[in-house]
Amino acid sequence: MKVSFHTLGCKLNFSETSTIARSFDEKGFEKVKFGNSADVIVINTCSVTGTADKKCRQAINKAKKNSPEAFIVVTGCYAQLKSDEISKMPGVDVVLGMQEKFNLFDKISEFKKKETASVYSCEINEVSNFDISHSSGDRTRSFLKIQDGCDYPCTYCTIPKARGKSRNGKIEDIILEAQTIVKKGFKEIILTGVNIGDFGKTTDETFFELLQELEKVEGIERYRISSIEPNLLTDEIITLVSNSKKILPHFHIPLQTGNNKLLKLMKRRYMRELFEEKIISINKNIPEAFIGVDVIVGFPDETDKDFLETYNFIEKLDVSFLHVFSYSDRDGTPASTMENKVSAKEIENRSKKLHLLSDLKHKNFYMKNIGKEQTVLFEAAKYKNSMFGFTDNYIKVEIPYDENLINKIKKVKIISVNENGNALVEILDKLTKNNV
Ligand code: SF4
Repeated sequence: MKVSFHTLGCKLNFSETSTIARSFDEKGFEKVKFGNSADVIVINTCSVTGTADKKCRQAINKAKKNSPEAFIVVTGCYAQLKSDEISKMPGVDVVLGMQEKFNLFDKISEFKKKETASVYSCEINEVSNFDISHSSGDRTRSFLKIQDGCDYPCTYCTIPKARGKSRNGKIEDIILEAQTIVKKGFKEIILTGVNIGDFGKTTDETFFELLQELEKVEGIERYRISSIEPNLLTDEIITLVSNSKKILPHFHIPLQTGNNKLLKLMKRRYMRELFEEKIISINKNIPEAFIGVDVIVGFPDETDKDFLETYNFIEKLDVSFLHVFSYSDRDGTPASTMENKVSAKEIENRSKKLHLLSDLKHKNFYMKNIGKEQTVLFEAAKYKNSMFGFTDNYIKVEIPYDENLINKIKKVKIISVNENGNALVEILDKLTKNNV
């Protein structure tokens, strides 16, 4: 039987779909591209914004259109939040909530379409399991799920309702999963979760201890920490990264706003002064580090003056890139009932301004690294006659395609930045007979 998968959303979802796909593989299914005719279609959904919900519905309709007889399984955050709504969509056969995401074969023995869809889900506060996952197959880097869920009360966020309480795997199990990833030939792992700095809550361990143990895993040469809350980015973690040969100088830290009044309304667990301290500490201890920052524009009650404060606050910070999100109401969140909503037009204006600021900072970061030596892990993707890879500090490098370099880590010197905005490099440790 043919099966196809479609994943929306975050790295966590990709690691989970990849793990679900392996269970189909073990059952002898043939994997085909989403959109091609299939007998079973699995859609792993996201619900971080209203747009994400819409894209999920579009994916379900596309699946039904391309394979009208296919058995359609919908799982993920949208499935947990709106299982009833999705079960009524034409073509859907099974809706799996967060607790059942990995238990399809326990629930379904025959992939035969039925009149009405079956929903296997439960209230989110009943969700307790932690299913370890890693992505494999179609990428050079592997996403390793180390933590799930979140206990934070951010007033705009629907993720705790979709993924449940903060929980994680034991360090010993995650090390075993990392060793499995090594056996598959991966050299780089991206540590992913919902609130990974909160790792250890359900096992009485810490994220710092996990990083120390991961460093010892033979065969993995690079780790990236995906997104970490500023209040959980401890000085000992920054020091560990500054001394590490494996944990890369690449941080992704959510700020959301540079205005303390709004940070309070968002129920974030820090004020902007703490955020600034973390950035200064990283710049001091790891000057070559890449720092990506999440910002939300248009949160309720954000005045022009508040936005300007955020803009000026970020402008003076030495960070490398901004992930700019436009605020949107999410059902059931406290922010969705707040007064003084910002108009869509104004949100668009503010988003544009921050995107321009981000482009400037990103360009400056690349220019600052010209003449510097770095290592690059070259990836398999080929575009026109180029291939790409990322330096330790997340600079995208473009070179003429050479399949001998796929999944190879090479020492390079950054020479310039081309019209595509990618770095051009000189490879310092050229390929020789014995390292082709
Ligand atoms: S930390 Fe806040 S924004 Fe992030 S997942 Fe948790 S509740 Fe959502």
